[in-house]
Amino acid sequence: MDTRKFYSDGAWVEPKGTDTLDVTNPSTEMPVATISMANFEDADLAVNAARTAWKTWSQTPVAERLVLLRKLLDIYSERSEEMAEAISKEMGAPITFSRDLQVAFGYNHLKNTITALENFKFEHPLNEGSDDSHIMHESIGVATLITPWNWPMNQVMLKVAPALATGCTLILKPSQVAPLSSMLLADMVHQAGFPAGVFNLINGAGSSVGSYLCRHPEVDMVSFTGSTGAGASITRDTSEGIKRVSLELGGKGANIVFPDADKSSLRNSIERCFRNTGQSCNAPTRLLVERSMLDETIKLAVTAANEMAVGASDKEGSHIGPVASKAQYDKVRSLIEIGVKEGATLKAGGLERPDGLNQGWFIKPTVFANVTPDMTIAQEEIFGPVLSIMAFDSEEQAIALANDTEYGLSNYIQTADKERARRVARRLRSGMVEVNGKSFGPGFPFGGYKKSGNGREGGRFGLEEFLEVKVVSDWA
Ligand code: NAD
Repeated sequence: MDTRKFYSDGAWVEPKGTDTLDVTNPSTEMPVATISMANFEDADLAVNAARTAWKTWSQTPVAERLVLLRKLLDIYSERSEEMAEAISKEMGAPITFSRDLQVAFGYNHLKNTITALENFKFEHPLNEGSDDSHIMHESIGVATLITPWNWPMNQVMLKVAPALATGCTLILKPSQVAPLSSMLLADMVHQAGFPAGVFNLINGAGSSVGSYLCRHPEVDMVSFTGSTGAGASITRDTSEGIKRVSLELGGKGANIVFPDADKSSLRNSIERCFRNTGQSCNAPTRLLVERSMLDETIKLAVTAANEMAVGASDKEGSHIGPVASKAQYDKVRSLIEIGVKEGATLKAGGLERPDGLNQGWFIKPTVFANVTPDMTIAQEEIFGPVLSIMAFDSEEQAIALANDTEYGLSNYIQTADKERARRVARRLRSGMVEVNGKSFGPGFPFGGYKKSGNGREGGRFGLEEFLEVKVVSDWA
């Protein structure tokens, strides 16, 4: 694959823009590919292709779309090792993690979307037993999809799969930090035989061509995952055109630990903060602990951090990799410094490089205790392997602390008391509440409250994001 090309109107095409950017391997700090940065002409060509293709793609029977999506699922599975390698190289996830989680999540989202599509009723009566008013769910049109670098195929598939499934056409602009996995996906879409113009991909900077793709008059919808700041800018960009906007933004998840918490599930939940080197929007980064078990939980967190190996992304194993970019490295380190300056107690990790890793953007798993809610590290999304521990004295205080954030993506509860878990879950202002490490079922709605965004992705919820609802009277 020539990484300097874009995938537009069913073919790999030469870019009109002349700017280029190196994609850098975060483990080595060495370039692994060069991509082109699209200009507005590249964007126009992709949008026009999508607009033309939508006329026929939106009218295809569901059965036809299912055949192509199932084909794509097979190809994705056959080429999963290529995908794992691309993700490892572009954003630094260790190859085992890339294979078992990064790639696997993409597979699951596509599979769950296919299941949701098989069961989705695009037309039905408004009320059971009365055929007079008829409901139709129709594809919204041309969608701009913009994604970040931290879980590339997870995020891309949560958008691409439902867009294709609902009969939308799309322009994907992946993160310029991690574009290789998306280019590989474009190649798979091509191999599956989707009609020209249905799926288009251009690379480029968010603030220029990304923003242009959001403002474009021929774009009906924008689905965005990324930082809250960029989400706000996209909201402004799309307001004139009154476009549908689905936003999946940052998070600052609380992990509330009651004294009856199961110890092994507690350790897992602490390690989740460091997973993917802390670069997950739903990471449990604030550990809220009932005071009676504060000391033992701090010890447990310190042990978990110290025992977590850090290493290069091409090495097999359960270690964590580097953070994805120099910018991220500098940002995380500066927040660690601020944590110390503002008076939190550094219990593990810190600014020193992990042993033997003198090149690459590696950061030690870091634990802060004595964190207070007014500290920067208690409020700002760090997006690195940094845990902030705070104590609480009552259930009421735990809920208040957990909700004391501008974000509302995911929270976590550790307790053996089901009644308490339900009571607390009802009062947490977040789109997701995970109890005792139990995973959500297939096709669950991923999304947040408050400044974590307004979208819901996954399964049937993901399909609904890309659909308009129409009601027609006198149908019977
Ligand atoms: P980012 O906002 O800098 O960039 C994300 C994407 O948006 C990139 O493709 C970028 O080019 C583009 N972009 C940036 N500014 C833009 C603009 N003004 N207009 C249009 N496009 C623009 O985020 P990032 O650093 O790549 O990713 C990390 C962020 O993503 C974190 O805040 C994280 O919490 C968030 N995130 C959220 C979820 C979720 O589902 N809620 C999932 C993963 C990551």
